Amino acid sequence: MRTELLSVPGEPARANEDFAAISPLGAAVVLDGVTPPPDGQTGCVHTVTWFVQQLGPALLDQAAGRRDQSLADCLADAIGQTKAKHEDTCDLSHRRTPQATVVALRWDEKRVEYLVLSDSVLLLDIEGTVTPLLDGRLDEVTGRPEMREIRYTPGYFDALESLRNADGGFYTAAADAEVAKRAVTGQLPRNDVRAAVAMSDGASRWSEVFHFGDWTDLFGQAEKSVEGLVDAVRAAETADPDRKDFPRGKARDDASVVFIELADR
Ligand SMILES: [Zn+2]
Repeated sequence: MRTELLSVPGEPARANEDFAAISPLGAAVVLDGVTPPPDGQTGCVHTVTWFVQQLGPALLDQAAGRRDQSLADCLADAIGQTKAKHEDTCDLSHRRTPQATVVALRWDEKRVEYLVLSDSVLLLDIEGTVTPLLDGRLDEVTGRPEMREIRYTPGYFDALESLRNADGGFYTAAADAEVAKRAVTGQLPRNDVRAAVAMSDGASRWSEVFHFGDWTDLFGQAEKSVEGLVDAVRAAETADPDRKDFPRGKARDDASVVFIELADR
């Protein structure tokens, strides 16, 4: 069994708002913290980095240690544990309270379980076919005509925010444990899954923004070298600093990739 992990901030001098980890007990987690607008209040005295550094380890612990619980219940518990660490100091009902996208993967001899919330990406090689396991709700929201019209305008962020963790919108892990029930979850026989790649959207932009290839190509690149994947993204970002050729949210984004080989080819 081989694993590889890379998690790097978009700018070397900035704190990484992603979190990625693999447990030797058979679990992996990738979180991507949602960056609030620079002028925005969040109701929280903590940074987004602090938040993912609480939620991520809590979720990895739960996933690896509590095999009697579903991954959704593990996420609910991890959200609850994180909430308890700052509910006395912070207003967690604030709509910009720290929050993150989530991918969790867990395996034992018999099965592979997964959980996906918001726009981080999980790819599984299932019997030789690379299969994306995605939470499509954010894409659905941003693809709506009224959202496309205002994309990359100042009002866009506000419009998007009003749909986050709201009915008919999309969901991220913040302070409400109930959101765990909204995650995309499932399980497969262990023998059907050869390998897995989990990543934040700062890495999946290799495919989704820069069009270096499709999910199968991206999987192949991650398997070859997670560093090579992120290097290619960084080079493309640097070549288009004004985001003209490749429209995207952040010019350079935090990027995290986890590769897990569960069985030999
Ligand atoms: Zn706080």
